Amino acid sequence: MAEKRASAPRQSETPVRETAVDLTGPVEDYLKAIYDIERDQQAAATNEIAQRLQIAPASVSGMVRRLAEQGLLEYERYKGVKLTAAGRRAALRTIRRHRVIEAYLVQALGYSWDVVHEEAERLEHAASDDLIDRMATAIGEPSTDPHGAPIPTRDGRVDERRHRRLSELRPGQRALVTRVGDEDPELLRYLASLGLLPNATVTLDERAPFEGPLTIRVEQARYQVGTALAERVLVELLPD
Ligand SMILES: [Zn+2]
Repeated sequence: MAEKRASAPRQSETPVRETAVDLTGPVEDYLKAIYDIERDQQAAATNEIAQRLQIAPASVSGMVRRLAEQGLLEYERYKGVKLTAAGRRAALRTIRRHRVIEAYLVQALGYSWDVVHEEAERLEHAASDDLIDRMATAIGEPSTDPHGAPIPTRDGRVDERRHRRLSELRPGQRALVTRVGDEDPELLRYLASLGLLPNATVTLDERAPFEGPLTIRVEQARYQVGTALAERVLVELLPD
């Protein structure tokens, strides 16, 4: 029984939460990918979006045009696309859902941190904002997910401070692990075996030349790790 709304007076601009209600899963994935790329550089090129989403560049162009028509992004000449305010809001909503789900699975259901990303990738498109808010409340409104990524607030604010990579530390520098990549379960299990978790203290002892291994100390234990691993661990420098 469809409600007859045609004659009802047109609502004024819908509040923030409702602007993106009808976005499909693929659209949400595009906005999330563009948001991510934009954080590292000024605009997202079609090729980078394609790479991130693992699809052909040709299909990206079509989708990008549609998203621009919907007012979710705009073209930057010679550079690529940028999210509009509405696009950014929609991206942050999806990111909030993803990260709250990960946190809930770990904190409330006892999942291990290496398996929640896959679940969240699927559920982020299905869960309602109300469900997400209740999940967040149930676990005490965490500010980060299990991998240390900041959880956007209900009204779309997010801590966007940039952190340096463990690979960028100089020998002798001590730092707090703030965040690790969440997509590779094997990496997460390995990091856990080294104790390289958010809030762990890590010191760079030595760096072998020519991108050789880094010798690090995690709490009291010493390990050698490759640069590729150290690039995926974000840290905040601690005072000497
Ligand atoms: Zn994730």
